[in-house]
Amino acid sequence: MIQDIAPKQLINHFENYSPDENSLFCVFSDKKLLLKCDPEKEEIIYPSQKEIGNNHKCIYLFSIDDQKYFLVDEDIPLPEGFSYYSMMELRKMNPHSNGNIYAAYTAYHLWHWYSTNRYCGVCGKETYYDTKERALKCSCGNTIYPRINPAVIVGVKNGNKLLLTKYNRGFGFYALIAGFTEIGETMEETVKREVKEEAGINVKNITYYKSQPWGIAQDILMGFYCEVDGDDTITVDHSELKIAEWVERENITLQPSDYSLTNEMMKMFKEGKE
Ligand SMILES: [Zn+2]
Repeated sequence: MIQDIAPKQLINHFENYSPDENSLFCVFSDKKLLLKCDPEKEEIIYPSQKEIGNNHKCIYLFSIDDQKYFLVDEDIPLPEGFSYYSMMELRKMNPHSNGNIYAAYTAYHLWHWYSTNRYCGVCGKETYYDTKERALKCSCGNTIYPRINPAVIVGVKNGNKLLLTKYNRGFGFYALIAGFTEIGETMEETVKREVKEEAGINVKNITYYKSQPWGIAQDILMGFYCEVDGDDTITVDHSELKIAEWVERENITLQPSDYSLTNEMMKMFKEGKE
């Protein structure tokens, strides 16, 4: 999965660091990230002070091992050799860059949060960086913390078959039932509700598998397996899904990259490990 970068480690506790000549910078424009990409080597390269200079408004994001990443919080001139890439373009490029793609997804989540909270939701004044924790402050006393959306990924089992889906738009490969947790429900209730809404199926024996931060949608994804309870006739919610169908283990087609929790859960079932 995207976050499996061992022996490297993402260190994301907040520090009020300033950048130096070894720092890397995450610069976003129109939801795209400034990088130099080498598709042949499947590498992505972040700009450093050498390329963008040292006089920009920025904030420390996280480190991967000793490598510090900063968010540049203003528009900058385009450095030579660099271009802006969407997260979907990066995913298609499938870089095996040992943490760089995880850094991109995580930086995107933080950028999205900073850029959509420039003004206070209470009084409308401009917010400013807290220097002690990951937060934005307002002079009215309001503190804004990062927003993470909880969501579930559900592998519904029916004997030797798994319930696979394809979305109406966007990502074109097989996926699993997925959806956001609503206010007031448990994760298990989200699982039951989403499977019922998207496929018209009742489920039982819900078991937790693993979780995954998915920064490009500001999510924390929680993966669950469960079993069909009673009638296995699928009623597809075509407002969200193009396809929802039972697929035999051996016929499951995996996604082209191993980034997602969805793909790992499909793979585990395909290989008879679930
Ligand atoms: Zn305010």
